[in-house]
Amino acid sequence: MAQETVPYGRVTQKKPAVAELHILWITAGLGCDGDTVSITAATQPSVEDVVLGTIPGLPKVHLHNPVLAYENGDDFMKYFYMAEQGKLEPFVLVIEGSIPNEKIKKEGYWAALGTNPHTGQPITTNEWIDRLTPKALAVVACGTCATYGGIHAMEGNPTGCMGLADYLGWDWKSKAGLPIVNVPGCPVQPDNFMETLLYLLYQVAGLAPMIPLDDQLRPTWLFGTTVHEGCDRAGYYEQGDFATSYGSPKCIVKLGCWGPVVNCNVPKRGWMAGIGGCPNVGGICIGCTMPGFPDKFMPFMDEPPGGKLSSTAIGVYGKAIRALRKMTNDTVNKEPKWRHPRAELTTGYQPNSY
Ligand code: SF4
Ligand code: SF4
Repeated sequence: MAQETVPYGRVTQKKPAVAELHILWITAGLGCDGDTVSITAATQPSVEDVVLGTIPGLPKVHLHNPVLAYENGDDFMKYFYMAEQGKLEPFVLVIEGSIPNEKIKKEGYWAALGTNPHTGQPITTNEWIDRLTPKALAVVACGTCATYGGIHAMEGNPTGCMGLADYLGWDWKSKAGLPIVNVPGCPVQPDNFMETLLYLLYQVAGLAPMIPLDDQLRPTWLFGTTVHEGCDRAGYYEQGDFATSYGSPKCIVKLGCWGPVVNCNVPKRGWMAGIGGCPNVGGICIGCTMPGFPDKFMPFMDEPPGGKLSSTAIGVYGKAIRALRKMTNDTVNKEPKWRHPRAELTTGYQPNSY
């Protein structure tokens, strides 16, 4: 069916299929609320842009995030109860924090949000996920803890925690037919998250096609390249010119940077307003966006095993390239010899003979 059109300023555009929606955001996984704190720095778009309705074509958005909400206690929780009763339609569910495994407990609980009025007991995060995911239009895992388990899920942890797709199943689909959308990062890069949310809002409004995701359920346009491919220091790597201590502008692979094998756009995008981006500003990439984080990247301060091989090879090749480049660089750093104050013209000018 053709979508209705509405005037927006001087432009006529499609009317959103969903005029108004809620974002229910649970930060009660195992985590530090760092992803919520991170997204307050977003500008492309900002949280304010989305909730104040400044972006054309978006449905009206009501955000319910415990860190950012004005309400607290039952005033805040009422939206979650309404959603589970089917009285808050439609909504997008955002999960932040690692999902603990409550099945391994004989007593007590690992993580919870709100209190069950009938039993007086906390409502576990697992229960909230079970109650709300079947009713959500889309489900987004925000940050590496929610996407893949993160630091809490490292070897030897007592909680048995995991990422949302491990909990719900990697083939899980929302009632609108959307897979879980994973936006990893420790914390999530603010604009990566808000841009993904914006895409999903356009999609549920009927104004964008299915969000393109890779096999780890990450938006392909954000996680399709490596840190190394966007790093300011890649020119040094290519010339086999490596830093041996912090504070150097050279490639820091020998100090432990995993950039060549990590999917993340932070060196290109920066952290806030285009500024920062781990290796660009001297911090080794520890692979915080990756499903294998942290275990597969530890110990953090050693040269990565694959890196050793490639940096040794590039060391030999790079030395030769560096020598050749130095010669060329010396040449192009000198003015041509015909620029002089002598009383003669040596530019090669040929006067017109006819
Ligand atoms: S610092 Fe890391 S990401 Fe940058 S060029 Fe070196 S290895 Fe690659
Ligand atoms: S560059 Fe590496 S450490 Fe920095 S955010 Fe990306 S994956 Fe994490």
